[in-house]
Amino acid sequence: MAQEVRGVIAPGKNEPVRVETIVVPDPGPGEAVVKVQACGVCHTDLHYKQGGISDDYPFLLGHEASGVVESVGEGVTDIAPGDFVILNWRAVCGNCRACLRGRPWYCFNTHNAKQKMTLASTGQELSPALGIGAFADKTLVAAGQCTKVDPAVSPAVAGLLGCGVMAGIGAAINTGNVGRGDTVAVIGCGGVGDAAIAGSRLAGAARIIAVDIDDRKLEKARSMGATHTVNSKASDPVEAIRELTGGFGADVVIEAVGRPETYKQAFYARDLAGTVVLVGVPTPEMKLELPLLDVFGRGGSLKSSWYGDCLPSRDFPMLIDLHQQGRLDLAAFVTETIQLDEVEKAFERMHGGDVLRSVVEL
Ligand SMILES: [Zn+2]
Ligand SMILES: [Zn+2]
Repeated sequence: MAQEVRGVIAPGKNEPVRVETIVVPDPGPGEAVVKVQACGVCHTDLHYKQGGISDDYPFLLGHEASGVVESVGEGVTDIAPGDFVILNWRAVCGNCRACLRGRPWYCFNTHNAKQKMTLASTGQELSPALGIGAFADKTLVAAGQCTKVDPAVSPAVAGLLGCGVMAGIGAAINTGNVGRGDTVAVIGCGGVGDAAIAGSRLAGAARIIAVDIDDRKLEKARSMGATHTVNSKASDPVEAIRELTGGFGADVVIEAVGRPETYKQAFYARDLAGTVVLVGVPTPEMKLELPLLDVFGRGGSLKSSWYGDCLPSRDFPMLIDLHQQGRLDLAAFVTETIQLDEVEKAFERMHGGDVLRSVVEL
């Protein structure tokens, strides 16, 4: 039977978000209902609220979540009621050209639940953020969006792997292929950038240079594993990175801002034949201009990282295990835990620079 639970709704462009009663249907074939335990507040949720992603209001926000499977629909065999899972926004199809070539992390035909959750008051269909919608007591997802991990880990910590932290770690270890002895520079030290720093440390980078315009963020970046910091307001980051790498530039530069000017910094701060990884998300009006001769002459590769090019079934359990072994401090990303009705306030605090992640605990 369909259930009524609380959920955080973005009702219209720039309107404050609010808690409303939503209807969660029973899982259909290939679907699961998950009792949410924790969900991080991500910039993408704010972008939904502001209309930066689409106009499909009302949105059910929240997408960096973990919880316990409550029920599963027909044909679901990988997970069962009672399993502790991290939600991901890309359930892979297994049949597209990327999947069939053994590259499911690129899956071009990912899916979400087919049935819709609705607003109890009006019956309106909800658009769940990134196909998840987890600022709610319970949510309906495709079973492939649930990845089982060790239930001993704290839900607030586990949920963060569902989005920003995975994107950053994956940008370093999957897309950038950072290896032992590499020099790495990370431009932009928010949650994703800090995760890229933690990922680079995990991969054995010899030197990790953090670049930001905020000294508090640089301080935090150091605690995540940065060996050097550069305030790009005070000094030219390209020059500074070259100076710290024997005059050559870094092997891998990770751009975690998503702006043309920081992308150019990344482009020129890398060594010949080095790699640029763009994991910051640009907006539609942004344009990049670079001398094509420099693109050719400097060699190497210019890559973009979708969700850290992660494969949840491979990466989530591994990163939770490394966290449990004390080799990856995921708890450092949780700044504060809040209640479901405090999401709007958390959005306001986002721009202050003090908060890496607010996490709603349910
Ligand atoms: Zn596929
Ligand atoms: Zn996110």
